[in-house]
Order: sequence, then structure tokens, then C-alpha cells
Amino acid sequence: MKPIPLVDLKAAHEEVADEVRAGFERILADTAFVGGDEVRQFECEYADFGNVAHCVGVANGTDAVELSLRAGGVGHGDEVVVPANTFIATVGAVARTGARPVLADCLPGTYLLDPQTALDAVGPATRAVVPVHLYGQMADVTALTGQLPGHVRIVEDAAQCQGATRDARTPGSGGIAATSFYPGKNLGAYGDAGAVLTDDEQLADLVRAIANHGGVAKYRHDVPGFNSRLDGLQAVVLRAKLARLADGNAARRAAAARYDALLADLAATGRVLLPATAPGNVHVWHLYVVQVAGADRDSVVGKLNAEGIGAGVHYPAPVHLTPAYRHLGHSRGDFPNAEKAAERILSLPLYPQITPDQQQRVVDTLTDALGS
Ligand SMILES: *Cc1c(COP(=O)(O)O)cnc(C)c1O
Repeated sequence: MKPIPLVDLKAAHEEVADEVRAGFERILADTAFVGGDEVRQFECEYADFGNVAHCVGVANGTDAVELSLRAGGVGHGDEVVVPANTFIATVGAVARTGARPVLADCLPGTYLLDPQTALDAVGPATRAVVPVHLYGQMADVTALTGQLPGHVRIVEDAAQCQGATRDARTPGSGGIAATSFYPGKNLGAYGDAGAVLTDDEQLADLVRAIANHGGVAKYRHDVPGFNSRLDGLQAVVLRAKLARLADGNAARRAAAARYDALLADLAATGRVLLPATAPGNVHVWHLYVVQVAGADRDSVVGKLNAEGIGAGVHYPAPVHLTPAYRHLGHSRGDFPNAEKAAERILSLPLYPQITPDQQQRVVDTLTDALGS
């Protein structure tokens, strides 16, 4: 039987193949390889889509987080609060600024940053908090806004939530957000790409400068910078895919609802815990993450994979139990919700083009893998 991948990039490409080819021809004719018209157009279109005033295209999502923090003045000696359950890039970006990552736990139902544990982690050296909009829905940013001291900024990690809203608010509006266009994201490029989103013109200008060797004009360096720019070929792909993103997200929502229905029996007997959506969230289902109970998660994933089902785990270890961040000095038990989730979660295949038959096969295989 044909394998069912976690994400079907081939199916996504087929939808835009002609447009991408035509766009690549334009770039080759213009030799606008870094920056240029396509990049500017994409930035305008994505800012419109995301309901923010400014979008700055950068080289990848990790840089987007780092640039957002740097533009907010975060650096050596500062502390930045991040969730213990996130893709490691969030923490890597903090570390790259020279600041110390300080971890906070997640909520048990949605896996989103628990605002109270984040506020508890804030101290005199804290300069920023990074809520991560995990799996396609937004963390509670407004619960933090009013409570944080004035010198603490919010930098949203919006890598997994392109098109999501919470109480009609989009990532970056009234603040700053970073996103990633890694190929597997809801809006994926054909290589690495990312963006910073903000309503604040000064912040946008500063991000643009830092990402371009410290200045927006050639050989003018106003601030210390590095190189993190979006290239024209990626902008072509992103423009073609952006035009289809809202439809793709709607298809993901329909597929998630179908999984909910197909998994209802397993959920009723407590063997599978379905993903929860926080009130006010329009979810874009970057990942459909369930918990398995009473079964060994890794062996369930192994059985699914053996049957050609591309189930995955996002992520197998929380940050504090990852070798790279052992020096933060935590041990098992420090972030119980994140730890428990990491032991039990698995992600089922989900993409706009997934068919009801494929989903039925995923659920049948999962049911077998869980045993009776
Ligand atoms: C993908 C991702 C990133 C990093 O993006 P890259 O483009 O791979 O650098 C950061 N944070 C989260 C939550 C992500 O999912």
C-alpha cells in the first residue's frame, strides 16, 4: 500500500508547479537572486495576510526569532523566558543573542505556554518572553501583556501558525512575531526562509538593518549586523503558495475534524487523548497531535511507521532534558506538563490534500497498534 507521509510536499508542489516555473524564469531573467521585486511583493502580501503593517523576509525562522529579540535590545546578561516544550530552534535563537533561556511549563490540554508559569519565571534580568504558537494555535499573549513589567517584551514564535488568530488577533500585531517558511510549515518555501512581523516601523527597520550587515544601504553600517536575507526564488514559491494558504488551512481544519470523529471511540475509552483548541483560537493545524495512554508511545509510532504511516513526535524531549541545554541545570520533574506530554504525544499525518480514505487507514492502523 502507498505510504501516507506526515506532510505531502509533492502534492503541495503540484498545485503551484506552473506558477513557480514561470516565476523562476522571471528571476533568472532579472538575476534578482537576493531581495528584489518578488521579495518586496511577498513582504507586502504576507503583511496583508497577517494583518500587520510590516513583514521583513529573512533567511529562516530561527534567525527571525533572533532578529526580533536583538531588535528589542535583548543580548548578553539578559534572560528570556521560553516554553520547555518547543522546537529547539526557539531556545537556540535566544542563546544566539547571548541571553540565557529561562524555561516555563505548558498547559496540559493545549500544550501552549502556561502564562502563570511564564510570569513566575520573570525576574529582574528578564528582557523578553517568547510564547510559542505550537501546532497551529496561538498561545495566550494577552494574558501576559498586562502583567509583564514594562522592560519585558513579548516576541511571538509564530513558526507553526500561519493564518491562525486568537480572539481575532494575529501574531505580531501590536508587538513582534517571528515565523518560519521551512518546507514543512503551513506556508513552506523550497529551502530555508522566514519573516519578522510587526506593526512597529522602527522595529521593522532595525530588523531589516541587522539582517543586512547592519544597514539598508550598501556599505552603510549603522548597527552591528549579519546576513539573513530572503532570496527571490523563495519569494516566488511563497507568493504562489500564499495565494492558496487560506484554502489549505481550511482543508487542514476539515481533516482535523475528521480525525476527531474517526478517533471518537478510542477517545471515549481513554486510550487516545484528542488535541484541544483553546477558546478564541482559529486553529490552522500545523500538526495533529494526540496522546496515547496505556501503551508505549515509541512502539506505537514504530508500528505506524512500519505500516507506511508517517507518524512523528513533536518533540521527543523537552528542552531541559536535551543534552544541549543540560547546563541550564534542570532535572526531570521541573516541568511536569511538558515532560508528560513528551512521553505520550504523537503526530498523525495531516496536510491539505489528505483524503478521508487515508485518514481512515491511519486510524485503523493506530487502533491495531494500540491493541485491544
Ligand atoms: C520551524 C520552527 C522554528 C525554526 O524555523 P527554521 O526556519 O527551521 O529556522 C522555530 N520555532 C518553531 C516553533 C518552529 O516550529
